[in-house]
Amino acid sequence: MFERMTLFERAVGAETDIVSKEMFNWIDDPEISNALKSLRTVMQDTKSIPSVDGSAARLKLEALARSGAFNNLAERIRIALRPEATASVCRAYIEREMQNLPQPVKLYYMGPMFRRERPQKGRYRQFYQIGAEVLGGTDAPPIDAEVIEMLMTFFDKCGLQGATLYINSIGHNAENCRRGYVANLKAALEKVKDKLGPDSQRRIDTNPLRVLDSKLESEQAIIATLPHIADHLCDECKTHYAEVKRQLEVRGVLYQENWRLVRGLDYYMRTTFEITAPGLGSQNAVCGGGRYDGLVELLGGPPTKGIGFAIGEDRLLLSLQESGKGQVQQGRDVYIAWMGERAYATAIRAAKDLRKAGFSVELPPLEQKFGKALGQADKLGARYALILGDNEVSEALWTLKTLADGTQQKLTEPDLLQFLRDQKPTSQ
Ligand code: AMP
Repeated sequence: MFERMTLFERAVGAETDIVSKEMFNWIDDPEISNALKSLRTVMQDTKSIPSVDGSAARLKLEALARSGAFNNLAERIRIALRPEATASVCRAYIEREMQNLPQPVKLYYMGPMFRRERPQKGRYRQFYQIGAEVLGGTDAPPIDAEVIEMLMTFFDKCGLQGATLYINSIGHNAENCRRGYVANLKAALEKVKDKLGPDSQRRIDTNPLRVLDSKLESEQAIIATLPHIADHLCDECKTHYAEVKRQLEVRGVLYQENWRLVRGLDYYMRTTFEITAPGLGSQNAVCGGGRYDGLVELLGGPPTKGIGFAIGEDRLLLSLQESGKGQVQQGRDVYIAWMGERAYATAIRAAKDLRKAGFSVELPPLEQKFGKALGQADKLGARYALILGDNEVSEALWTLKTLADGTQQKLTEPDLLQFLRDQKPTSQ
């Protein structure tokens, strides 16, 4: 969960919202942290001392501060709660020399991420992501398509309905490709600057692509008139994008193109994608991802191609719950109503066997009258009550009551297991 702050400054980008505004980070050494604080205080104090005596100390301190040595040292030990994990995966790929493994290397992660965002439905300061990355020597478009196909299959298996896939290509960082487009975009934005809100106005200088992310109602008509990146892609990026789309079609994956999908992180290039789901209000993206060739190299590793995604687990669950799919199964499969010491021994064995076979079982620890036990089974929402009394044990015929309709049947132990197995829905 912890990483050096510098990893994200380099990988995600110091100018991005995530790094510049949303990260929890601190200097993890009280001595240096305190020394830095006192240095700053002394710097301020000495400035207000006009005496000649103070000047030598002041000059020394100023020189030290100017050299940046102290700050550099402090920055090297600044640590952060990770806001995302792709940078960490690349860091691990380099540290563990995974370029020596058979390529491509396919990795996944699941875990908490942290961003200082304004909390609202589907947006938390600690949230969970499930992500996967493919790293290796090739950026062949079938890899992009296969990663996306896997995602859509996963969402389908979860029972997520109405998931929509949006794709785009943001080219690569060259004059004849994205850099040229950004210059073009910047010029177009300067012309309409007065009509934009303060956030977008600021972004014209810091990160013009992010203006396209704006959700402000008043800016939508203006943004619609801005140049599209597709018209500025270099030939290779154009071909790559066309092939990704063809590969998706070959796999029967439905997509919609969204020219405004630029994603907020610096490391992305070429393919970007996002998946939205219903029932989430304004925070409706359940997954985001894209290609990041060059990131491993940027972090000091060998030239490596990469593509990956992160699913927002909290939002996925929210969307499933909204559609009634994510309900946690309440109740039990079997409630064992037993009476008598002999029956209890059998009940313990039955509970063990049923649990081993994958059924959820409630075995009351104390003896109860059958009537009370059945009432209890009902309250817990059990599907069946297994009734074990002296008769059942001596006859080796167990009574199984279906609580929904009150019907009862007598079964031998193996028949009972088989019967329950046949009743169990296959999805469980
Ligand atoms: P990102 O790393 O920003 O591309 O996010 C990938 C996915 O993580 C998004 O599509 C969301 O589903 C989820 N996500 C991002 N930020 C948050 C947050 N603050 N709270 C909950 N989920 C989030």
